[in-house]
Amino acid sequence: MSERLPELKIDALLVSSPANVRYLTGYLGSNGILLVTKADAHFFTDPRYAIEASQQITCKVHVEKKPLLVGAGGVIKRKRFKKIGFESSWLRYEDYLKLKEELPLGSGLQPIGKVIEEQRMVKSASELDLIRRSVATNSEAYSKTIRRVHAGAREMDIAAELDYQMRALGAEKAAFETIVAAGVRSALPHAHPTAHRLGENELLLIDMGASQDGYASDMTRVAHTGEPPKRILRLYKAVLEAQLAALRSIKAGVTTGEVDAAARDVLKRHELDRAFVHSTGHGLGLEIHEPPRIARKDKTKLQAGMAITIEPGAYIDGLGGIRIEDTVLVTEHGCEVLTPTPKDFIEL
Ligand code: ZN
Ligand code: ZN
Repeated sequence: MSERLPELKIDALLVSSPANVRYLTGYLGSNGILLVTKADAHFFTDPRYAIEASQQITCKVHVEKKPLLVGAGGVIKRKRFKKIGFESSWLRYEDYLKLKEELPLGSGLQPIGKVIEEQRMVKSASELDLIRRSVATNSEAYSKTIRRVHAGAREMDIAAELDYQMRALGAEKAAFETIVAAGVRSALPHAHPTAHRLGENELLLIDMGASQDGYASDMTRVAHTGEPPKRILRLYKAVLEAQLAALRSIKAGVTTGEVDAAARDVLKRHELDRAFVHSTGHGLGLEIHEPPRIARKDKTKLQAGMAITIEPGAYIDGLGGIRIEDTVLVTEHGCEVLTPTPKDFIEL
């Protein structure tokens, strides 16, 4: 990161996003900030993490009894830095004021946007290995669970079983709250699992992701108890067509907006464009949602090595919703769908 400071026109960069701190240092604890300078980097944590930090972190470690920002302010003062960059999405206003108080006269704070997140968009080979493992765990947990699901099961129990299986297979946790939505509740794209029991002849939507060694996976599949009615089958076929069209449109150099349009155009042909109420996908890695966004009119160009999701959906109030989501690796000439789970509309 040091080499980027001149172009950002700052003398030092305060990194306070936990995922960015982890990305740059490997630190896994919950209280750590990093001050990157042109010459070196300083990591600040509290005494609870002293041992861990000394084992994990190769830059200078400061174990502070004071607030970490006061520690960072001390280094800034000592080195007489003038322009300090900070992450505006990750520095609370009260911390901003505290840091400002610590700065020597003539120094100023400058927001730097999502510079590190942009760097994180293209994954290294070792990051991709971890994403592949997370995806494998997620799919395995799904297949172990889904074969035992039948009418009468509560959404919350299915979600608990999925979470348990993920952890039993090596994930440290679910990457986000597992979505299990039955029947008409599947029309809520971010439904929380409830005590609702899966009925006979009901749609079941499961959206789940594992977080394993810090890296996320993300997948959505749909199933039905008994044979799905024609209207729901039509919805499923349209969404699957949209998902496959988006996957086919992916390669390095294409904009994320073009990939979004590939899915949206198919749903429009089926008169379902207004039922598709979210974007087509998102980057993922240390966080479940990372840049780039695969969204309408977005101009970000895909690059080989980006890990993204493709997840078009269509939601009809009173009927239900279908979403099909895979975790995907962008390659030079196309993409590799990492998620191994079949996309068939299975009958339970
Ligand atoms: Zn998802
Ligand atoms: Zn997703």
